[in-house]
Amino acid sequence: MTQKTDAETKAKAGAIIVPVTLFEQNCTIIWCEVTRKAVVIDPGGDVPTIREAIAKTEVTVEKIWLTHGHIDHVGGAAELREALAVPIEGPHVADKFLLDNVVTSGARFGITGVRDFAPDRWLDEGDRVEIGELAFDILHCPGHSPGSVVYFNKEMRFAHVGDVLFNGSVGRTDLPGGNHDTLMRSIKDKLLPLGDDIGFICGHGAGSSFGQERMTNPFLTGKM
Ligand SMILES: [Zn+2]
Ligand SMILES: [Zn+2]
Repeated sequence: MTQKTDAETKAKAGAIIVPVTLFEQNCTIIWCEVTRKAVVIDPGGDVPTIREAIAKTEVTVEKIWLTHGHIDHVGGAAELREALAVPIEGPHVADKFLLDNVVTSGARFGITGVRDFAPDRWLDEGDRVEIGELAFDILHCPGHSPGSVVYFNKEMRFAHVGDVLFNGSVGRTDLPGGNHDTLMRSIKDKLLPLGDDIGFICGHGAGSSFGQERMTNPFLTGKM
């Protein structure tokens, strides 16, 4: 029997981003390289495009994870769940009022064919979700929406932060249930302490790292 090296035991992952909806939302497919099992994070719409990306990537999607309840992140979730017969996990139950009103929210932007739905599992601070050999810790980060959650993988020094934090900005807080002070506390008390080296994918635009944002994001440097 040979001993496994650190490099071999370290779980490896792949990811692709599929921009969806008129909001150019970063639907993200993340997979475990060992098992080729994958999760689709925030299938906001354009489900045929997402399914094409899944087919091209040649992974087996076993779960759908949601960062929060806004239409551009959840609009395709119920349809994709039905098509793939996989469970939806997240967001935090505080976003239930959004998932109960997906149809109404969609109508405001001329988006049809969406459904109100409930996830198979609500997530809360300290929960752990898994795909293949990858494990993500859940951080409840309210402020952009009351039920926003962040998916954090400690080994890979990686987080999916949804609309909590952006490259050069932070989530908007003028929508129902939003609160800027609460959002800034989520970022400063929960995300930044994880370490400057944490790279992240966010709900819109290019990703970044917590260190990069701590040093240059005007909302965090106080220079705005
Ligand atoms: Zn949002
Ligand atoms: Zn968004």
